[in-house]
Amino acid sequence: MTEKLTWIEEELAALKESGLFINLRVIDSPPGAWMTVDGKKVLNLCTNNYLGLAGDERLIKAAQDALAHYGAGPTAVRSIAGTLSVHRELERKVAAFKNVEDALYVQSGFLANQAAIPPLVGKEDVIFSDRLNHASIIDGARLSRAKIIVYEHCDPVDLEVKIKEHLSNYRRGLVVTDGVFSMDGDVAPLDQIYEVAEKYGVMTMVDDAHGEGVLGHGGRGIVDHFGLHGKFDVEIGTFSKAFGVVGGVIAGKKVIVDYLRQKARPFLFSNAVTAADSAACLAAVEVLSASTELVDRLWKNTETFKGEMKALGFNVGNSVTPITPVMLGDVKLAKEFSRKLFAEDVFAMALGFPTVPKGLARIRVMVSAMLSEDDLRFGLDKFAKIGRELGVI
Ligand SMILES: *Cc1c(COP(=O)(O)O)cnc(C)c1O
Repeated sequence: MTEKLTWIEEELAALKESGLFINLRVIDSPPGAWMTVDGKKVLNLCTNNYLGLAGDERLIKAAQDALAHYGAGPTAVRSIAGTLSVHRELERKVAAFKNVEDALYVQSGFLANQAAIPPLVGKEDVIFSDRLNHASIIDGARLSRAKIIVYEHCDPVDLEVKIKEHLSNYRRGLVVTDGVFSMDGDVAPLDQIYEVAEKYGVMTMVDDAHGEGVLGHGGRGIVDHFGLHGKFDVEIGTFSKAFGVVGGVIAGKKVIVDYLRQKARPFLFSNAVTAADSAACLAAVEVLSASTELVDRLWKNTETFKGEMKALGFNVGNSVTPITPVMLGDVKLAKEFSRKLFAEDVFAMALGFPTVPKGLARIRVMVSAMLSEDDLRFGLDKFAKIGRELGVI
């Protein structure tokens, strides 16, 4: 071992010391209501498989057919020889589903932010960014080299103050916000953000990763939820959560999507998504376009779970979505709670700093449409038992 790398060993030791070291759990099944984690069958309150689509026969069949038809990988970037007919069909169908003019399919939601932000703003411009925006928005914003001005979380009044103070010093502005905030499950006041941005001629972008397949009519997302069709300039999305597959989408006004096809670097310089994944995404959009049944069940389960947790005396924060933070405060307590749940066959993750602010550690429960009444009861009983054991309720 050379001297020059000992600092890394020290960093790793420090992470372990502070309880922040990430241990990877290993999965050996689809992310169903029950899944195999580290060799053990547990109730899944942890994945983003909101609607159960990841294990859906229709998606699996679509992926198998596409694999046989197109082969394993495109072996080219989209702009050279990697645009498959299934990519185009997916882009048309997801645009129709979300009621936007056009859409661009990219490799992930994370990359969608890196693809979309730098072409729209540069060194002479300013980005107004919610304090709790997702890491991929922050990185996309940094990559653009625009000035980043942070406004207070979900606060359109502060947004206006910041726009008034800063916009005139720059060529143009972009306001960007998560739609649903993934750690708290609260929702950005998109209508008010839109009004403020419009008043000052600032471009608008929302990252709807946890809203698609969840909010709006039949899961059409946050813009549908607020009735803002045709108003937001750019909607970022992911196929890796409620849609159950992988990939990101940049949807919105045609002029922007046309422009990003020319300029977005992950689109120009990184290989296209495989046909199998793309076809599974397409099947997911078709399932959701045809029926609201799964989304309706997701919300019914959410009401049951949250209502019962509150009745038990847990603090479930300000969530208005299926994301249910069980607030515990201390990170060691949250980890202990999660460990005990796992020992009782319930899989729910503890989140601490830096994923959430210090002192606001929690267990995050992801409610899904997959859970039966018995499953919900099982999970609630275990939360009650351990909550009492640890003196939380
Ligand atoms: C999960 C998430 C992403 C990342 O999406 P991937 O498709 O997993 O890369 C981006 N933005 C937000 C707001 C997210 O919650």
